[in-house]
Amino acid sequence: MKKYFLTLTFILAFLSLTAQEKWAIALHGGAGSAPANMTARQISAYETELLKALNIGKEMLKNGATALDAVEAVVVTLENNPMFNAGKGAVTNLEGVHELDAAIMDGSNLKAGAVAGVRDIKNPIKAARLVMDSTAHVLLIGEGASAFAKQMGLDIVPNSYFDTDKSAKQHSDKGTVGCVALDVHGNLAAATSTGGMRGKKWGRVGDVPIIGAGTYANNQTVAVSGTGHGEYWIRRVVAYDISALMEYKGLSVEEAAREVIFNKISPMGGSGGGVICVDKNGNISLVFNTSLMHRAWANSDGEQGVAVLKTEND
Ligand code: ASP
Repeated sequence: MKKYFLTLTFILAFLSLTAQEKWAIALHGGAGSAPANMTARQISAYETELLKALNIGKEMLKNGATALDAVEAVVVTLENNPMFNAGKGAVTNLEGVHELDAAIMDGSNLKAGAVAGVRDIKNPIKAARLVMDSTAHVLLIGEGASAFAKQMGLDIVPNSYFDTDKSAKQHSDKGTVGCVALDVHGNLAAATSTGGMRGKKWGRVGDVPIIGAGTYANNQTVAVSGTGHGEYWIRRVVAYDISALMEYKGLSVEEAAREVIFNKISPMGGSGGGVICVDKNGNISLVFNTSLMHRAWANSDGEQGVAVLKTEND
């Protein structure tokens, strides 16, 4: 009998150990219509950058880092990359000025931080994280956000820092960036960063820093990061709606994401977009109604992928 219990304890300990090792990650570099003249070389240039960012997150998660730290690190990498519309390389508004939005959310406690309309914070996602960790607030905007970032010791740069350099200018299809992850501790997190819609009015804020619209994470359900025509993501509360469909209707993450993108967003018009999701069990869903979404994903079962254009599986 004693021996039986010992064996049982051993099996249970082994199972909980392996269960804890589960992690999953997905990232996006924006969605939109694929330029007609997009070359195989451009696609593979994007895939290379997406995989570099993915590897950073993957290694962290494998080594036991929190989902929160992993999504932040991935988004910082993509913000520093001029091929994407976030941080360096961000698009400009109608006045030719870069105004950036970013948000991060911790699914374990529903804490969130965001900044909007910032013009001089080198890495807006770092500022968003500090809003979450070091203030009693969720969203800081404009000059107040900048003053806070300065006070916290973040890098402040001239607005021209965000200009796209020549080599990255050829990539006219660049987009917002985001990352969602499940860590080995069972926690979910989401982070998103953007320069917003090209030619927007100054002062326009998109879905990215609006918690529940472009960014959301809840350990009970899913972590979501969106990209696309932000006004529609705000009006449809896209990220939260995916979580709510899972929580209240028992939909799978794939069913919920498809319901929101194809049955709620698509009929409304706009230029469309997509979402990346990782649910509490590590299931990954990448759903978009455009012809392109830069995306990459990996999990602890050894599955991994990267893609730019729509495939027959999407
Ligand atoms: N969703 C972003 C915004 O509306 C733009 C994008 O994802 O391309 O600001």
